[in-house]
Amino acid sequence: MLPRHLTHVFPDTADTNAIGHLTIGGCDAVDLVEEFGTPLYVLDETTLRSKCRQFRDAFASRYAGAEAVYASKAYINPALARIFAEEGLGLDVVSGGELAVAMAGEVPLDRVYFHGNNKTPAELEEAVAAGIGRVVVDSFHELDLLERISADAGKSQDILVRVSPGIDPHTHAYTTTGIIDSKFGFSIQTGDAEKAIQQAIAAPHLNLRGLHFHLGSPIFELEPYQAATDLVLRFAAGLREQGLQLQEFSPGGGFAIAYTRNDQPPAADDYAEAIVSTLTATCDELGMEHPSLVIEPGRSIIGPAGVALYRIGAIKEIPGVRTYVSVDGGMGDNIRPALYQASYEVLSANRPAAEPDATVTIAGKYCESGDVLASDILLPAPAAGDVIAIPAAGAYCPSMASNYNLNPRPPIVLVNDGESRLIRRRESYADMMLCDL
Ligand SMILES: *Cc1c(COP(=O)(O)O)cnc(C)c1O
Repeated sequence: MLPRHLTHVFPDTADTNAIGHLTIGGCDAVDLVEEFGTPLYVLDETTLRSKCRQFRDAFASRYAGAEAVYASKAYINPALARIFAEEGLGLDVVSGGELAVAMAGEVPLDRVYFHGNNKTPAELEEAVAAGIGRVVVDSFHELDLLERISADAGKSQDILVRVSPGIDPHTHAYTTTGIIDSKFGFSIQTGDAEKAIQQAIAAPHLNLRGLHFHLGSPIFELEPYQAATDLVLRFAAGLREQGLQLQEFSPGGGFAIAYTRNDQPPAADDYAEAIVSTLTATCDELGMEHPSLVIEPGRSIIGPAGVALYRIGAIKEIPGVRTYVSVDGGMGDNIRPALYQASYEVLSANRPAAEPDATVTIAGKYCESGDVLASDILLPAPAAGDVIAIPAAGAYCPSMASNYNLNPRPPIVLVNDGESRLIRRRESYADMMLCDL
């Protein structure tokens, strides 16, 4: 049994075994690090698939024509792309690299959406040539560029237009996207969104299917989704006479997860109920046909499935000030605490049931004082060689990893039913020099 206040931040299968170690997917965490080394990212396949189904079914059971599309930027590789395709999810990509991984994972391309505020000409050419399902257009520059590229390819590209509804979802400034002061999307308030829609309708090689917005992430409140859905639908209704047919509507992703003991994010069903009830009510009031609905969860699918495992090395006690417990990873594999003050829980993986009686700060091994994974947390008297687990680490950790200080990026192992499968090996020194001439 895990400490009760932490069960909801760990994967569904997390437990302890007869020798008192943390287990994930039936695998002993200490055995995993002995086999694969540290730092190690463990993904629980049961939690991953169950989150896919929860989001897919929460919306599909309430709304005919709802589709879930996984936001690859939370983390993707070909093995995972295959799992998402098996679970019936499409994919969001934000670069040619993510598109290449979607193709390597044999994801049906008509279910792939291309986002981003500055897609390059080469990326758009690749996407159009590959037959991508939708390009979500984000700027006037892109409207011109994509029209030309589609014309040259002799195609009519399906698109959505990304609008910025001017609604603040009350999350960190760095992850807020749907307000007026944002690099993303066409603002409804300034009139840009209307202009973009007119231009898209007039473009001979673009087929405008509908509208998209994404407010930011993580969003713990339901009200911003409802307010933005209502606002965007009213805006769309006002453009019917100009030829806008809203066949598709996407309120993005940003669904929250529990990182710490006090986090209580809404369930998939709560988000679905809020969005679907507003969508249907507003459409009915305005006499609009119900568009198909596309949601884009990233964090809420892979975040809860992931656990990062590190080994403790140096411990520095500064009497009356702080105790630094250093681990063999840090900001190179998890930049979130340094980038936006993200908080995490920490559990001893070799002694999860021991009384946590020492207040310590978990520091990484990188040459930055800001390289701290968790500040002033409780652990059972730590010692060099102990293994610690940081839960809720599946999203925006490996995907934002770097080779800073030339530390190899960690491996990723998928666990299920007592079996472990390496889906990404640890980088070697040679890997890090592969591009050096
Ligand atoms: C990042 C992003 C998402 C996913 O956000 P999560 O918080 O991971 O759910 C969805 N849609 C768009 C357009 C995004 O940029």
